[in-house]
Amino acid sequence: MTRENNPFTLAQTQFDQVAEQMHLDEAVRSILRWPLREFRFQLPVRMDDGTIKIFFGFRVQHNDARGPAKGGIRFAANETLDTVRALATWMTWKCAVADIPLGGAKGGVVVDPATLSIGEKERLCREWIDAAWKNLGPRNDVPAPDVGSTAQMMGWMMDEYSKLQGEYVPGVITGKPIGGGGSEGRTAATGFGVIVTIREALKHLGISPTGKTAAMQGFGNVAQYAALTFIEMLGGRVISVSCWDREDKVAYTYTREDGIDPRFLQSITDQYGTIDQEQARANGYQIENGEAWLGKDVDILVPAAIEGVITDYNVAQISPQVKILAEGANGPTTLEADELLKQRDIFVIPDFLCNAGGVTCSYFEQVQSDMNYYWEEEEVLTKLDQKMRNAFRAVLTMAMDRGLYMRDAAYWVAIARVERAMRLRGWI
Ligand code: NAD
Repeated sequence: MTRENNPFTLAQTQFDQVAEQMHLDEAVRSILRWPLREFRFQLPVRMDDGTIKIFFGFRVQHNDARGPAKGGIRFAANETLDTVRALATWMTWKCAVADIPLGGAKGGVVVDPATLSIGEKERLCREWIDAAWKNLGPRNDVPAPDVGSTAQMMGWMMDEYSKLQGEYVPGVITGKPIGGGGSEGRTAATGFGVIVTIREALKHLGISPTGKTAAMQGFGNVAQYAALTFIEMLGGRVISVSCWDREDKVAYTYTREDGIDPRFLQSITDQYGTIDQEQARANGYQIENGEAWLGKDVDILVPAAIEGVITDYNVAQISPQVKILAEGANGPTTLEADELLKQRDIFVIPDFLCNAGGVTCSYFEQVQSDMNYYWEEEEVLTKLDQKMRNAFRAVLTMAMDRGLYMRDAAYWVAIARVERAMRLRGWI
């Protein structure tokens, strides 16, 4: 990882730029540039063949001034401490911009989960909790699933934590399975929230959503439900999605000009978001290189896969037809590409606003777990819609009042809220 593509450098640079614009107090800057706490642990796991394998895990708590730290645990072969730091930082801004009373954290394990058996995965999850549990809890730090982790894994982790505590503590973790302390609507929440922000952006731009087209990167949790909601809520058409093909070890774009069928594609996609090529081809999908989604003549682009994918090398591929770039993924745009986007007439919905639906629903899940009273899906999605709408409005108002780029406006809103909480608590 170089300085240029280090996500933590990106997170700090974005923060520095806005801190400068805001004339933020030096002490506040110093606290917020770095995480408050970082944990790195060895995780010895007995493999199915009887050997012990050592994995590495992380938990980074960036800031908890507004409430317990909150953030997912990623299981990824290329996980690094700097990736986790960046994502923990963005969680602080995300919770603040969504106006939920939580701080920011992130966790990680350096592993490709597809290489583990179910038993090995469960032992690794339990080991992670054994290493981290003293610093977790419904009032301290509440993990959740992220790339490479599932609802079942959260269920094992909640169970392990509850055993260590000697009582049932469902509020320690979110993204749990339905029936195992999970919330209705959580699976769809992030993708649903992405589309609520797109709906609000279209409204602001005076564009009718009906018949609008989109291309997405990824076809995992976020992209699947973003595609479904784009079609069902807005009456739009998704032309392309893409995925990483785990066998070929390259990314492909799957296109149907008359619109993809997300439910069909879901039925031929594995749990890691890889689409079955044969079946897609047999059903009329054109298969192109992994970057092809970015150059499509569509109204809306939704990167919803991984970080650092829109760069100064490929940003020029974006069609003049594109009006909105909705960052479903965390950190999909590099600093250089962001500068180039600012010069074009593209309305950017920044990541920690755009994809805040997941953590907002996680917060709802934690509230329900703590109450031991669970809401219907409609109630969850109605509350989520309202929260996302309010978050979008707060950022848009800031952008318009101060003439700011949407990403900078989202930072202003978030940083101001965290700064206020730190002052109210007497930290500064
Ligand atoms: P996921 O693991 O379910 O899916 C990831 C998808 O991206 C898969 O389809 C995978 O094949 C694809 N992909 C990976 N590398 C690719 C590449 N180079 N080109 C094209 N496709 C590629 O992950 P997810 O939960 O959908 O998360 C996607 C992004 O959204 C991540 O940045 C994550 O941090 C962020 N996010 C997720 C949530 C959530 O609730 N799941 C919430 C907020 C943010």
